[in-house]
Amino acid sequence: MKRVIAIDGPAGAGKSTVAKIVAERLGCTYIDTGAMYRGVAWKTLRQSQEATDEAILRAVHDIDVRLSCTESGTHVTVDGTDVTAEIRTPEVTHIVSRVAALGAVREKMVELQRTMAAEGAVVMDGRDIGTNVLQNADVKVFLTASVEERARRRYDEMRAKGYAVDLEELKQEIASRDKQDSEREISPLRQADDAVLLDTTTLSIEEVAARIMELCE
Ligand code: C5P
Repeated sequence: MKRVIAIDGPAGAGKSTVAKIVAERLGCTYIDTGAMYRGVAWKTLRQSQEATDEAILRAVHDIDVRLSCTESGTHVTVDGTDVTAEIRTPEVTHIVSRVAALGAVREKMVELQRTMAAEGAVVMDGRDIGTNVLQNADVKVFLTASVEERARRRYDEMRAKGYAVDLEELKQEIASRDKQDSEREISPLRQADDAVLLDTTTLSIEEVAARIMELCE
């Protein structure tokens, strides 16, 4: 059974949902790397009015981001404060791709991610896991889906959390984040040459999880 699994893909492709399921079935730790970049974005907004490069660098230089996997999902703390819910707000989502494009931010997060992965079997999801963070992963998957479907999933998720979101705005936000993540200079969002492409547009969560489990066996 393979034990280092890298799952990459654009926003809303279903990465975290299936990564959590696969990690549970394999008895691995699930590491949500997007939550770490969101933690840096959250701290930036808390310290500064505007998310300038200087403000982002000030936030990241001594940040202590921790992830803990529990039955109820991943909990995220930044400098000792639980920010699990706060990192999912539209304000954080709006700036996170800009935060994640900075070299100093990526260096620090990637180092932390590799340290966590070295502790044991992991399922890690993000944008650059197969291409950069865990290049030697046993299984690499690139999950994607149409932008309409991804926006619809995000819409349902945000509505369930009580946010008054607009489907068209969400679609634009996702497309803009995809563009920023794919076009940035350092570790852009890209399918690794040895990753298996899975288009989840018409697949159920269970079908996607089952397909990844097959790849692991
Ligand atoms: O996965 P999630 O949508 O929460 O990620 C938020 C943002 O964090 C992404 O849009 C991307 O800018 C950044 N990210 C990244 N590299 C990763 C994971 C996330 O640049 N490995």
